[in-house]
This record gives sequence, structure tokens and C-alpha cells, in this order.
Amino acid sequence: VATVDIEVDSEAEMVAFGADLAGTLRKGDRVGLVGDLGAGKSTLARATLRSLAGDPAFEVPSPTFTIVQDYPELTPRVRHVDLYRVEGGDTEELGLGEGDAAELIEWPREALPVTLAIAFGPHEEARTITVTAPPAWAERLRRQREA
Ligand code: ADP
Ligand code: MG
Repeated sequence: VATVDIEVDSEAEMVAFGADLAGTLRKGDRVGLVGDLGAGKSTLARATLRSLAGDPAFEVPSPTFTIVQDYPELTPRVRHVDLYRVEGGDTEELGLGEGDAAELIEWPREALPVTLAIAFGPHEEARTITVTAPPAWAERLRRQREA
């Protein structure tokens, strides 16, 4: 795997990274968003979805209670998932892993192996996020960030 460290100095830069992520995601990608409460997982997911929608006001409800928010209207289709409240093995009935969507998973776990992970550093306004991904995916992200 390849590792890419990205310095995010503000929430606005996190939103900009969401646009890079939006341009890199393909259906079948399962992204684990790894970091504790307040780390920026939902901020990044929201920015990614808004970029894909082409609308900075696109409504992105929290998946905390619904567990899965599905966006079939986007390309790629996205499922935004929050496993925080899901018990141990209860991930089978969530309709994940169909290969028809990119999945953004907050609080990922071993029962749903990810294809890449985005880990968020400690909560200063400036945060380092570390992307650990297959080399081809990391290369796609690098090209997207240069574009
Ligand atoms: P999580 O989903 O990981 O619990 P959220 O995205 O809901 O976290 O919350 C992150 C909080 O941190 C938000 O209140 C956001 O305004 C704030 N914040 C401050 N700086 C940043 C940054 N650089 N990137 C992301 N969020 C930031
Ligand atoms: Mg969250």
C-alpha cells in the first residue's frame, strides 16, 4: 500500500480535500474514515458528497441514527455509513458491499474490510490526514490533487 500525508490547515482546506476525494472515488471503493469524535470525518464526507452533487448546499443528513445514507442520484453512487452505534457483527443487513457504490464508512470495523483508510490527526484547526491506499488509488489521488 501507499501512504499519503495531507496537511489540512483549516476547515476550508478539508472541504477542498473533499473535492479531491470526490474526483478520485470510484464505485466499489470502500473508504474507512478513522478518527475520534470531532476529528472531521463527517465534515469530509459532507464536502465529498456536495462536490459530487455540484451543489455546496446539497443536503447531507447525518447517518448517526439511520446508519446508512444512500445517494443513488450521484455518480458514483455513494453510501455514507456511520457504524458508531452498530453492535459488533450486525453489519450484514446494511446492504453494503454490493459493488454498485462508493462507501464512506465512519467508525469502520474488521467485519467490513476497507479498500483504503483516511485517518484524521488530533483536533487542532490544522490537522494531518493520512491516506493509506492501494498504490494505483494513491496515484489517482495525487493526479487529482495536481489537476
Ligand atoms: P466527526 O464526524 O469525526 O465526529 P465532524 O466532522 O462532525 O467530526 O466535526 C469536526 C469539527 O471540527 C467541526 O465542528 C468542524 O467545524 C471543526 N473543524 C475545525 N477545523 C477543522 C478542520 N481543519 N477540518 C475539519 N473540521 C474542522
Ligand atoms: Mg461524524
